[in-house]
Amino acid sequence: MPFAAPDPTGGDASAAAVPGRPAEVVLGVLALYDRLGGDEFDDDDLATLRTFARHAAVAVDNVRVHEEAQRLSLTDPLTGLWNYRYLRESLRREVERASRFGRMVSVLALDLDRFKRVNDTYGHAAGDTVLAEFARRVRGEIREVDLAFRRGGEEFVVLLPETDARGATIVAERLGAAVRDAPVTVVGHAGVRELIPVTVSVGIAVFPDHADTGPQVLAAADEALYAAKTASRDTWRLAPAREPSPTREVPVPPVARSPADGLPRAGPDAPITTGDPSAGP
Ligand code: GH3
Ligand code: MG
Ligand code: MG
Repeated sequence: MPFAAPDPTGGDASAAAVPGRPAEVVLGVLALYDRLGGDEFDDDDLATLRTFARHAAVAVDNVRVHEEAQRLSLTDPLTGLWNYRYLRESLRREVERASRFGRMVSVLALDLDRFKRVNDTYGHAAGDTVLAEFARRVRGEIREVDLAFRRGGEEFVVLLPETDARGATIVAERLGAAVRDAPVTVVGHAGVRELIPVTVSVGIAVFPDHADTGPQVLAAADEALYAAKTASRDTWRLAPAREPSPTREVPVPPVARSPADGLPRAGPDAPITTGDPSAGP
């Protein structure tokens, strides 16, 4: 027996339309077999089942509405990325998990370059199109377990669980190229199609290489972002290594740290320096 709830879209659904009553969408199906005692199901059973199905439909529908409301409260409507609220929660959770299990988390702070000019030249709506397209490209470059956030305005954050400094620089390099390599098509002020070249600057910090808490890692990534902006824009910078401190408690085994020399943990040796795109991979 199907159990149903009113169709929130007002669509006709497959349920028979009753004048004056909203159409219904099927939420699930109840299947009953083998009645105890061996008798067949009768009309009374059907009536009981209908009552039960109505209650089940209300409960399932409430859960779905609640889940959707929660998703909307944690996402940015323009880009569909997670919002700042969820960033704070995720940062705390991922750093805590990494700390407990002796793992690493990389944080990328991203900021579109000279974005004010895009708005000033092509209009705010075109700027919004660029932001949405940027988010789409970011999503296309990261793994399923990675998390992308719009922090506000033209500022974004990507969390890379289980990723050390070398892995994070590879992602930063890839994101920069994905943005740089193809201008964004927008409809400008006069309704004319325009191709807007866009670039992004990226700051990278890693737990536990650069800080011990989520907010501190994000602050370190912000400082590295500032360095990328100051250097040239359209580039990435890695947060500087911390001074060794005899009083600092080591929260994870040393094996879980990026090597002090910045060399990769696996694969060919390649020193980590800067994100100068002209320097090649
Ligand atoms: P920089 O390279 O130093 O980052 O320069 P910038 O112009 O990107 O930085 P600035 O912080 O001066 O300007 C950010 C601009 O982002 C200002 C604002 O017009 C624009 N902006 C912020 N939020 C939105 C938005 O939701 N939509 C649009 N279209 N523009 C936005
Ligand atoms: Mg900014
Ligand atoms: Mg900017």
